[in-house]
Amino acid sequence: MERPTFGEDGTPDVENLYARRSGNGPHLMFAGHTDVVPVGDAAAWTYPPFSAAVHNGKMYGRGAVDMKGGIACFVAAVGRHLEKHAGLNGSISFVITGDEEGPSINGTGKLLEWAKAKGESWDAAIVGEPTNSEKMGDMMKIGRRGGLSGTIVVHGVQGHVAYPHLADNPVRGLVTLVESLLYPAFDSGTKDFQATNLEITTIDVGNPAVNVIPAKATATFNVRFNDTWTDETLMAEIHNRLDKAAGRHKLRPGKMAPVNYELTWRNRVSHVFLTHDEKLIGTLTSAVEATTGKRPQLSTSGGTSDARFIKDYCPVVEFGLVGKTMHMVDERVAIADLETLTQIYERFIADFFA
Ligand SMILES: [Zn+2]
Repeated sequence: MERPTFGEDGTPDVENLYARRSGNGPHLMFAGHTDVVPVGDAAAWTYPPFSAAVHNGKMYGRGAVDMKGGIACFVAAVGRHLEKHAGLNGSISFVITGDEEGPSINGTGKLLEWAKAKGESWDAAIVGEPTNSEKMGDMMKIGRRGGLSGTIVVHGVQGHVAYPHLADNPVRGLVTLVESLLYPAFDSGTKDFQATNLEITTIDVGNPAVNVIPAKATATFNVRFNDTWTDETLMAEIHNRLDKAAGRHKLRPGKMAPVNYELTWRNRVSHVFLTHDEKLIGTLTSAVEATTGKRPQLSTSGGTSDARFIKDYCPVVEFGLVGKTMHMVDERVAIADLETLTQIYERFIADFFA
């Protein structure tokens, strides 16, 4: 077991953990994070957010389902497996980070690079994020949509609102550009994914005067996209829509020049992915079904997770607790669910290495 710390300018140092139990056979990775989102208003919690108070069969606390609970279940499952079997017909690694809810810069991405440089490779991975919507057995995640953000800045000419012909209102240009991103829809979804969706997250002009045409207007957007697109084709489509719209004059009568804009891509792109590995998906599906009596839906819904880093190294699926209360006040997990998840993981380990 090693606990490497990673850092980078402008981000806090983060300690991570890599632990491996080695044997002859395939190498299974279990990935999770121990960091949590802020508690919000601590006074609003029924029990202190880090007390792990148990009441009426439920444990309360930040991270109960997202996702210290999931890590505890996997550790317990490995322990039970080793108690019942002389050894392991393969290897199990824990890839645990403290940087998933935060910037995600000094976490799983760097930990996997670090491990690979030491000669590590894996055959399959489970991320223990809470994937079930209502009850254990509801849902497994086999892929994730990609995510992309950008900011559009439109430059106009400041002036008096009563003399618009002497000015060029950037808000007219910005509205024209924004409309082109909102309609028509990018696609209507695919067999495995819901439709690509773009949301405008903020529009900013910051003009306090009612009689002044401003000089500049900006808008920021985030797109969650499916496997119709790659990062490159989607970026090209967005550029194309904006360039076309820039030449439209419906909202800018009398203006000859196209809308003067710049587009900047923000943050890192997260790539869309879909896992096809039948052994991994099939083994986990039957473990869930045998334990809960339910066949989990194979889904690609929701936000991103560290699976986006793991998918570059081996097939990855996500299965964990019921996510209903994650990030909320009074985050809590049913003790019975912890036992169910431990049994699912234990069965999966036994079948995976059988
Ligand atoms: Zn999480």
